[in-house]
Amino acid sequence: MAIYHPDYRLWLISEVDNDYVVGKFRQSVLGYFAVLMVFLLVTGAFSRYISRNEAVRRRQLRFQATHDPLTGLPNRNYLIEQFPRWVEEGGRFSLFFVDLDSFKGINDNFGHSVGDRLLEVLARRFAALVETQDLLIRHGGDEFVLLVSGPSPECRAAALCRRIFEVCQDITVDGMMFSPGCSVGIAHYPEHGQELDELLRAADLAMYEAKIERNTYRTYHSDIEDAYVQQSRIEHLLRGATQRGEIHMNYQPQVDSEGHLHGVESLVRWKNPELGMVPPDQFIGVAERTGQMSALGRFILEQSLCDFASLLTRSSHRFSLSINISVRQFAEASFSEDLLANLARFGLETDTVCLEITESTLVEALDRVQQILWFLHRQGLATSLDDFGTGYSSLAILKDLPFNEIKIDKSFVDNITEDESGQHLVRNIISIGHNYGMAVLAEGVETREQFDLLKSYGCDLFQGYYFSRPLTLEALEAYMVRGGQVK
Ligand code: C2E
Ligand code: CA
Ligand code: CA
Repeated sequence: MAIYHPDYRLWLISEVDNDYVVGKFRQSVLGYFAVLMVFLLVTGAFSRYISRNEAVRRRQLRFQATHDPLTGLPNRNYLIEQFPRWVEEGGRFSLFFVDLDSFKGINDNFGHSVGDRLLEVLARRFAALVETQDLLIRHGGDEFVLLVSGPSPECRAAALCRRIFEVCQDITVDGMMFSPGCSVGIAHYPEHGQELDELLRAADLAMYEAKIERNTYRTYHSDIEDAYVQQSRIEHLLRGATQRGEIHMNYQPQVDSEGHLHGVESLVRWKNPELGMVPPDQFIGVAERTGQMSALGRFILEQSLCDFASLLTRSSHRFSLSINISVRQFAEASFSEDLLANLARFGLETDTVCLEITESTLVEALDRVQQILWFLHRQGLATSLDDFGTGYSSLAILKDLPFNEIKIDKSFVDNITEDESGQHLVRNIISIGHNYGMAVLAEGVETREQFDLLKSYGCDLFQGYYFSRPLTLEALEAYMVRGGQVK
C-alpha cells in the first residue's frame, strides 16, 4: 500500500505478503460462512420440524373428523368423502344399513359404559367380517353402514347377513352375556339410488321393515316406499283422532271352560274418514314411535274404565276388564297414580281390572316395568302376559314378575288340531303356567275342536271368534242379555 503525504511531500509505503492477506481474508470469510451455514441448517431443521408436526397434527385432525373415537371405525364424514370414489370406479355395490335391535334396553338397564364396550366388541367383530375392499363405518349410535363392492345378488347378501346376525349374539361385557340382535336394510347402487342420501334412505326404509320382524334383513323395493307413505299418513292423521271422536273401544268376551263370561278384553278401534278402519296393529306401533302413545293410552284407559263401570252398574254378573298397555305407557312417571285415580273415579275395585302386557315389548324396559307391576300387584290389580311364546325370555320373565295369567298366542292355537308338535307345546305352556300358579288363557279360538282340545289340556280361559268377535259396547250388552247376564 502507498500513501502520498503532501505536507511532508513524502510517500509512505507499507508492504504485506499477498498470501498472508488472502489467508486472512479466507479465514474470516470461512468463519462467517460457517456461521451462516450453521444458521441455515438450524432454521432449516426447525422449519422441517414445525411442518412435520403440522402434518401429523393435520392428519390427527382429519382422522378425528372422519373417524369415530369409540370404535376407531370411519364415520359418516368419511363415507361422504369416499362415496364419489365408489361411484367413479363405475362398478356396482350395495349399502347395508345395520341397526341393533335391543341396544337401547341394554344402555338403559346396564349403563352407557356397558353399552360402549358392547359397541367396541361389535365393531371389531364386524371389521373381521368385511373384505379389504369393502368399507365399514359407524353411522352413529347403534347404526353401522357397510359398502360392499360387486353385484350383490340375494344369496350373497343372505350369506353376509347371516354372519352379521351371528356376531350380534353372545357378546360378553363385564361377565354378562348380551345378544342384542340386529336388523339389516340393503340398497343396491345404482338401482335404488345414485346419490349417497338416496341409497341411505332406501336402506334405512328397508331396515325399518326388517325391524318389524327383528333379527332379519330386507332389500329395498318400491312397496316399502308405499308402506312408508302409508305410515306417514297414519302418523299425521292419528294426531287429534281422539279429539275428533274417531277412536272408540271394542270388547271381546273371554269365557271359562263352561262357556260363561269371565271377562272382556278392550281393543281399540280407529275409523278415519280418509283411511277408513285402520287396524290397531297398524297404528299402535306408529303411535309408539311418534310419541302419541301416552295420550292415546290415556284415552283407551279412561274410555274402557268408563264403559266397564257403566256396564257393571247394569249387570248382575261380575266379570273383569282386560286392558292392553303399551310399554311406552309405563315410561310415564304418573302411570300408576293415574290408573289408581281413574279406578277410584269410576268406583271400580282394583281386582276387577287386568293389565295385558306383551312379552316382546316387556324386555325393552324390564326393570321399570317390574317395579310398576309389583306395585300394582300389591294394590290388587291383575296382570296378564300377552302373546306368550312369541318372545324369547319367557321363563325368566315369569319368575320375576307377578303375572296372574298368561295368554297363549293365537299362532299356537291356529293349527293345534292337526299339528302334534304344536299340541305338545301348548300342553307344556299350560303346565308351565299352572306351575307358576297362573291362569292360562288361549287366544284366537275359532272352532269347537280347538276349544274341546284346549279344554282337555286343562286350559282355563278362552277367547276367540268361536265365542264372539270384538263387540261395541251396545253389542256386548246384547251379548250379555242373550247370556242372561244383564238385569
Ligand atoms: P292382542 O292383544 O293379541 O289382541 C287380540 C287380537 O286378536 C285382536 O286383534 C282380536 O280382534 C284378534 N282376535 C281375537 N280372537 C280372534 C280369532 O278367533 N281369530 C282371529 N283371526 N283374530 C282374533 P285386534 O283388535 O286387531 O288387535 C291387534 C293387536 O293390537 C292386539 O293384539 C294388541 O296388541 C294391539 N291392541 C289392540 N287394542 C289395543 C289397545 O287398546 N292398546 C294397546 N296398547 N294395544 C292394542
Ligand atoms: Ca291383548
Ligand atoms: Ca295377544
